[in-house]
Amino acid sequence: MPIPKAELHLHIEGTLEPELAFELAARNGVELPYADTEELRKAYLFDDLQSFLDLYYGLMAVLRTEADFEDLADAYLARAAAQGVRHAEIFFDPQAHIARGVPIATVIEGLARALDRSEERHGVSTRLIMCFLRDQSAESAMETLHAARPHLDRIIGVGLDSAEVGHPPAKFKEVYEAAAALGLRLVAHAGEEGPPAYITEALDVLRVERVDHGLRCMEDPELVERLVRERVPLTLCPLSNVRLRAIDVLEEHPLARMMDAGLMCTVNSDDPAYFGGYVDDTFHAVREALGIDQERLRTLARNSFEAAFLDRDAADEALRARYLAEVEAYSFD
Ligand SMILES: [Zn+2]
Repeated sequence: MPIPKAELHLHIEGTLEPELAFELAARNGVELPYADTEELRKAYLFDDLQSFLDLYYGLMAVLRTEADFEDLADAYLARAAAQGVRHAEIFFDPQAHIARGVPIATVIEGLARALDRSEERHGVSTRLIMCFLRDQSAESAMETLHAARPHLDRIIGVGLDSAEVGHPPAKFKEVYEAAAALGLRLVAHAGEEGPPAYITEALDVLRVERVDHGLRCMEDPELVERLVRERVPLTLCPLSNVRLRAIDVLEEHPLARMMDAGLMCTVNSDDPAYFGGYVDDTFHAVREALGIDQERLRTLARNSFEAAFLDRDAADEALRARYLAEVEAYSFD
């Protein structure tokens, strides 16, 4: 059994495996430009960001109904459970679906159907985080936030994803202020391909509690010192960094150096159907490539629960305490 862990950086659209893509395409009468799952599986071996994004957004065409989103989330949760995930905070991108004519209610209610059953069915507690596409306008993000208002009981927070460079966090200041006023928790992708200054801006202007990726903080020693001092969790995705060429090979990933520096690191799978592994696969990969030893794997697992949004009430705190006890009791042998 893999070590118990929380997954905090996971895009549900990035869990669409070729088999399910074909199943949903058939269900909805959507024609895919691939002969079969094997040919589609080969397309998943893209070699640059643009071919990844083309494939990623192209395949979303198969997601039409609540049942489709439910099946997508349920398939992820089953895989996550097998990877030792006990708690998942799941990102979704409503703008990508609204643009295709799929209402936000369909997306949220469909995902919620799977999430509502998850503890009972998979032993995985869940939260939902709505992400804004940063390459779209701040007005569009604000409209999306308003569209989500009838469903806020389903959503714990908001995030910011997609192409980072040229779209600094400050662009979304008002949206984040509005989200905070609605009681939503705040996270944002920053410092993946964008500069360290974007991380500072996400903290100071957007007031995020966690930074997604945050990899490039290592270029700024003062920023590292601050992140350590304020114990800001970073949701790292090492396999994603290699596939999207943020770094050349996993052996060069700064995870070990980041842990040495005292940063609060977590390890996650990002878009696992596309990036070659789910979260425990990632734990294994960093152990092999970076010599992350067992006690450091335990630290990563402990950090994941400490950084989780499990602090709303006594039930949350009890759940977190139980998960942390499972981490401490875990034996690697
Ligand atoms: Zn991401």
